[in-house]
Amino acid sequence: MNYQEIAKKVLALGADRAGVVYVSEIEFEPSFRTLCEQNSCGMYGKSWMCPPYVGEYQDLIQKAREYEAAIVYQTIGRLEDSYDFEGMMQAGEKMNRLTQTIRLELNTLSGYETLFLGAGGCRVCTICAKAEEKPCRYPDQALASLEAYCINVSKLAPLAGMKYINGQDTVTYFGTVLLKRSVGACLK
Ligand code: SF4
Repeated sequence: MNYQEIAKKVLALGADRAGVVYVSEIEFEPSFRTLCEQNSCGMYGKSWMCPPYVGEYQDLIQKAREYEAAIVYQTIGRLEDSYDFEGMMQAGEKMNRLTQTIRLELNTLSGYETLFLGAGGCRVCTICAKAEEKPCRYPDQALASLEAYCINVSKLAPLAGMKYINGQDTVTYFGTVLLKRSVGACLK
């Protein structure tokens, strides 16, 4: 299965859109770590998968660059209005379920190594175990944020052929899986 076929599989699993971006096309922006440190999203220091606990940005960028391609996918939730908090939560839960389904499916692909990333950090638990200073509850499912890897999702989206924002009264969630061929794999 090649990268385009994997993107089609992600669509078939329930993403609203999916596309392929080569990692060499991605502009990593170290200034994102400053935004994290300013706690612009409110998650700084509150999740094991967000800065500062997720790791130094230089190491994360280096790790991401070891991969060849990114399958970028999005879900678009419809809201009653811009105050529809329940609709946002439901859309977020749908994205979580999709990501776990994609993870299970892609981990059965032979010949590839994967790294899953989510926009805005790990959403697996309603409140991260970090709040209680306890270890991560689901280390096999935890997702680091694209932002922690200094990837600007608003620039990644058009590279993958999709919009960052999808109109009034919608909420868009992004996920990405980085892929590289396993050592010794022989693929088309
Ligand atoms: S899986 Fe839960 S405990 Fe682990 S990083 Fe994600 S939100 Fe935190």
